[in-house]
Order: sequence, then structure tokens, then C-alpha cells
Amino acid sequence: MQPMRRESPYPMVPIEEAQSLIAAQVAPLGVEQIDIRGDADGRVLAEDVFAGAALPDVPKAAVDGYALRAEDGMDERRVLGELTAGGSSQVVLTAGTAARIMTGAPVPDGADAVIMVEQTDEHDGVLAIRQLVKSGDSIHTIGQDIARGELVLARGSVLGAAEIGLLATIGQVRVAVYRRPVVAVLATGDEVHEPDAPASAGGIRDSNRYALLAAAREAGCDTISLGIARDDKAVQRAAILGGLERADVLLTSGGVSMGTRDLIKPLLAELGTVHFGRIAFKPGKPTTFATVRGKLAFGLPGYPVSSLVSFEVFVRPALRRLQGDMRPDRPRVHVTLRDSIHAPHDRPEFQRAIVAWEDGLLVARSTGAQGSSRLLSLRAANALLFVPGDGRTHSAGAELEALLTGPVT
Ligand code: AMP
Ligand code: MG
Repeated sequence: MQPMRRESPYPMVPIEEAQSLIAAQVAPLGVEQIDIRGDADGRVLAEDVFAGAALPDVPKAAVDGYALRAEDGMDERRVLGELTAGGSSQVVLTAGTAARIMTGAPVPDGADAVIMVEQTDEHDGVLAIRQLVKSGDSIHTIGQDIARGELVLARGSVLGAAEIGLLATIGQVRVAVYRRPVVAVLATGDEVHEPDAPASAGGIRDSNRYALLAAAREAGCDTISLGIARDDKAVQRAAILGGLERADVLLTSGGVSMGTRDLIKPLLAELGTVHFGRIAFKPGKPTTFATVRGKLAFGLPGYPVSSLVSFEVFVRPALRRLQGDMRPDRPRVHVTLRDSIHAPHDRPEFQRAIVAWEDGLLVARSTGAQGSSRLLSLRAANALLFVPGDGRTHSAGAELEALLTGPVT
């Protein structure tokens, strides 16, 4: 039997230092062209996009009604015809005339205003109006929505519904976006088995790999599942190298603490450069970060809560940065505690909470016992409360900072 190590050779780095050590190794991946009519949701633009033409391109009616000349005042007008959006009728207004016009139809020459149908009467081709109009009323002017040459979307914009709509509106169906990172996830542990394999006493179902794969997809990545590696150096080395060949980022779960079967740290050190191997942070102290052959490798802890919270705090921002997101961090807010909570004495902790909008405040409710193996502490959680490691009790009503990891309902 090998002797057990009593002390980690890795210094404990503060959270912010770990985050900047990671950020220093991350730059956006390559760029690819996509068609916005395909799978553009959530992609990050790699170019500035300008409008090639004004929108609207001609003056248009903003309401259904009548195109007319403001200078004719309250006089009755002779109705010359009807103009529809997309129609081809040609009308020129002269003094004392008007034309029916539908929303989106080009305003005819000679007209300088549109009046809503609700403010008019028409009998036998004669229009009476009930309200005076000013020149320009209810006309959607050239470039009112988008000016020609205007910057419509800047590089780094995340494509959501509005952005995809904007690109369609200006006719830009192909755009350059950053490539999605490919993330490979490897579980380790002799006791770890597939969730549907027969249970054996002391065995553990592999929850981490499936949770991490889902988290990586949520972060906008493509994923590769590398299965479960036994606690054997050669097996884990082969799995790590195989994963790094196919992926931009490797995540491992387990095998990073002080046990004699915790092999990931020495393996990453052998294969590449370990930038840190311990963080002053709870849950997830043994989280490890390395670069191997130009790729990023994160050794996440085995405890399910530790692995997912470490992912949130350290891995997710890196995955967002890799795909060009210029605001890769989750939003930070102040929340008011509904329950009192206890801070640990040694390290800052990210406690899981459910934040809701109540009576004009963001109120945080604890998810209960915060043990690293209690995955139930993450159920429905949409926030990580930042609790400094000063051993204090924060009573109900106190304010703390939190990362919002999901929508507030
Ligand atoms: P380790 O860091 O490998 O010592 O693992 C710490 C704890 O997490 C042990 O109780 C493991 O059984 C558990 N664990 C390790 N890997 C997984 C996994 N993939 N899914 C769920 N629990 C795990
Ligand atoms: Mg293990």
C-alpha cells in the first residue's frame, strides 16, 4: 500500500484568482457562417452587422385610413381610390382629394398625412374628417425604424428572438458566429456505474456526467459523453487523451481529492500544465484546472453538488467566453434572506437558493441542508448565494449577493 498524502501540494487560491487564471487561458474559438433560418438560437455574432437600406424604404401609412393633404384643413375630399400594402395602384393627390390607404401601403405622391379611419366618414366617394391633421401625421417615414448604414447588431451579440428578427428584417440571412465549443465529459470511479445498471451495495449511479452534459448544453456547447473510467491511471490517461482529441474542453468528475485512488491531478500535471489544484471555495475545494495540448481541462469534484456548483462558478464563464460572449458571467444581484443561514468558518460558500420577486424585493429561500452530496439542494435553485467564510450567522431579512443561475419567477 502506498502511504496517504496528508497535505495537498497545491496552494489554495482565492475564487477571483482561480477565475482569472482560467480567463487568461480562454479566447474565442473560430468563426463559422450560419443561416439564421436554421439553428441560430443563442449563437454569438462574430461580426458587426449594418443595415444596407433604410427601413421603411418609402413613406408608408402607419394606420388604416385615408391619405390626404393637411393643408386642405377640415374640408371634404373626393376619394380617388384605394391603396393596399403590397398593392400596385398608382394615385397622385391634388388639392381636395384623398385616397383610402391601408397600414403598410406607400403614401401616394401629393399626400403629406394619413388620418385614421375611425376619425372619418365616407359617403358616395366623399370623405369627411372629424379631426384636423398635421403634415406628417400617421406616416411611417423613411428610415424611421432603421437608418441606412446603421449598426444593427454588434459583434458579441447573442442571437435571441429579437436579434434573429432584426437580421431577417434587413435581409441578412447569413452571418458569422463563433463556433460552439465541444465539451467532453468523463466520469471516474470504481464505484460509479450507469444509472440503469443493476444497483450494487455501495455503488453510485453516475449523476455527474449527465448533469454536466446538460449544463454544458445549456451553456451553448456541443457535448461528447466519454463514459466512466475506472480508477486506473492508464485507463484514465487514455480516456483523457481521447476526449481532448475530439473536444475543446474536457470535464472530469471525481478523483481530484486526497485519496490514493484520486488520480486526475497527477495525470493532468503529467500531460499538461495545472494552473490551480485547490480553491478557497465551498462546495468544490479540489476543483482543478489545466491546459493540455492547447485544450482546457477541468477536474471537477466527485460530489454531485460540488461538481455542478464548480461548473457554474468556474467552467460556465469559460464556455461562454470560448463562444465569444462578452458578458460571460451570470447576473449578480442583491437578495434578501427569508431564512437565516450560517456561513462556514474557513471558506466562502455558494449556497443554493430559490429567489423570487416578493413585494418589490428579490427574496431568497434556502434549499435546505447544503451538503455536497445532497443534489436536492440544487433542485429548482435559481441562485447561488455568496456567503463569506467568516462563520457569521446571517439572519432573515439580511442582504447577500447572489449569482442568478436561472430565471426569477
Ligand atoms: P471522489 O472525489 O472521486 O472521491 O468522489 C467523491 C464522492 O462523489 C464519492 O462519494 C463518489 O462516490 C461520488 N461520485 C463520484 N463520481 C460520481 C458521479 N459521477 N456521480 C455521482 N457521484 C459521484
Ligand atoms: Mg473517485
